[in-house]
Amino acid sequence: MPLSAQRVVKTEISALSALVRVPFPNQEHREASMFHVCQNCGMWRRDKTIDPAGPVAICPECGHRHPFKMLPLLIVSGAGGAGKSSVCQALAGKIDEAVLLEGDIIWRPEFNQPDDGFRGFFEAWLRIAMNVGQSGRPVVLFGAGMGVPANMEPCIHRRYFSRLSYLALVCDDDLLAERLRARPEWRGCADPAFIAAHQQFNRWFREEGPTTAPGIDLLDTTGVSPEDTARQVAAWIRSQLSTDKA
Ligand SMILES: [Zn+2]
Repeated sequence: MPLSAQRVVKTEISALSALVRVPFPNQEHREASMFHVCQNCGMWRRDKTIDPAGPVAICPECGHRHPFKMLPLLIVSGAGGAGKSSVCQALAGKIDEAVLLEGDIIWRPEFNQPDDGFRGFFEAWLRIAMNVGQSGRPVVLFGAGMGVPANMEPCIHRRYFSRLSYLALVCDDDLLAERLRARPEWRGCADPAFIAAHQQFNRWFREEGPTTAPGIDLLDTTGVSPEDTARQVAAWIRSQLSTDKA
């Protein structure tokens, strides 16, 4: 490439990268959600006071009462190999009353922060579900870590939901190991330490799940076909949503 052409390309690239930076003017990584920027005073607060009777989100700066849809969030969880993803795929497009989403779809290395309990990841999901809910349909979220109430209940965005309902798929430890070993090699799930960790997580759901606050409903998938598991999860989702209407 002649030198002049190289210069043109270089100029275009730097102009493009300047343009790409334009939409993010010094916001200190604050997410500009519809709730967070007050429609009255313009201040950014994500810790609004909730009055469920409205429901309204009240701006702590100016007292503006912002009406919003306060819906439940349903969470379908379980250890790796318990069947979350296959149920989510089996039910895709079959439950019109809710929006079904898999937690892993937004995972990025930046979320891998065990020191703060992956809080950024869980807050991001609550923020997405809250925004999806403003179109009138609650979210059913499928994922592992979000099935632990201690990860979700303390989050700032938890306040924008009427409740979080938890269902965990569980199965026998041997079956869980068998399913993880049967996964394609690139997923790295046959590693004995990985299997042991998920068996422990599976046992935690079985033993502690019903005693957490709020409690976790359990669905044992041992000896149950994927089709029947999907049917039972659909029934759980519908019963949760009809409870809300009552
Ligand atoms: Zn305000």
